[in-house]
Amino acid sequence: MKKIILLLSILFISVLHADTVKIQKTQVPGYYRFMVGSYEVTSIYDGYSNLPLDTYKGIDAANAEAIIKKEYSHISGSGKNFSFKVSVNTFLINTGKELILVDTGSGNSMGPATGAVKKNIEMAGYKPEDITKIIFTHLHPDHVGGLSEGGKQVYPNAVIYANEKEMDFWMNNSDFNKEFKDILNTYKNNKKYKALKDGAEIAAGIKGVLLPGHTIGHMGYEITSGGQKLLIWGDITHGYEVQFANPDVTTAYDYDQNQAKETRKALMKKVSDEGTMTAGSHLPFPGLGHVAPNADGKGYRWIPVQYVPLD
Ligand SMILES: [Zn+2]
Repeated sequence: MKKIILLLSILFISVLHADTVKIQKTQVPGYYRFMVGSYEVTSIYDGYSNLPLDTYKGIDAANAEAIIKKEYSHISGSGKNFSFKVSVNTFLINTGKELILVDTGSGNSMGPATGAVKKNIEMAGYKPEDITKIIFTHLHPDHVGGLSEGGKQVYPNAVIYANEKEMDFWMNNSDFNKEFKDILNTYKNNKKYKALKDGAEIAAGIKGVLLPGHTIGHMGYEITSGGQKLLIWGDITHGYEVQFANPDVTTAYDYDQNQAKETRKALMKKVSDEGTMTAGSHLPFPGLGHVAPNADGKGYRWIPVQYVPLD
């Protein structure tokens, strides 16, 4: 007994006197699950982008910077060097019959802070080859880049779905990344591409909703099961801090500024009025929550989900 006490005292003293305790710095795995009726939806983290202030159109830069700081967001630098962190999220739907991935993240196209979708799908207990459908919100690099890796298909058993105008626009655009074009052509040539129109049904309870403006054929996806509903709204916002309070503010990435603004305003009102659970590609991970009107009647606020285990 004495020996044990002595040993414990030595251990205790050595911990007290340890010069260093290793900082772990590893984060929790990048996935978060929730249920929509009987469908399991898993948010899958791709990573983050640092966006500069001139991302925004229609707001004074100093004003945007002040709003972002007021929200205690992840920022770096100031003035011209100011940037704010924006999450890149994708969503994996398990209907119990099939696995459907909404967007593929950035792959290697956006630098080392992104490209984690495949790894996080595996962390979440699934395999890329088990995914049978990929539905794209649009074809910007942070959404389509993860479809291939070194020119090879990451999801060999999937059929891909995108808005027909969106696909035509990018495939006929000479600035479009060649690797993206090649991989999309592989799917098209193998008859594994389906063109979507507004309202198209992808599976029971999952339908596409045209939300144009950010791109020509930007789509959201509505998931309904067991009386519950989720709207995945893609890139309706980039930085939630500025664009919830000021839905009029657009971004440099929007194809049609006016259309993007009108679509965002109408959709925020709709999901706020109806209390619809909402998911966004660039909302803070896991990118899930609700939209509520601000008390002063101007704009909206984002109410993120709480971490809760599933029953
Ligand atoms: Zn995006």
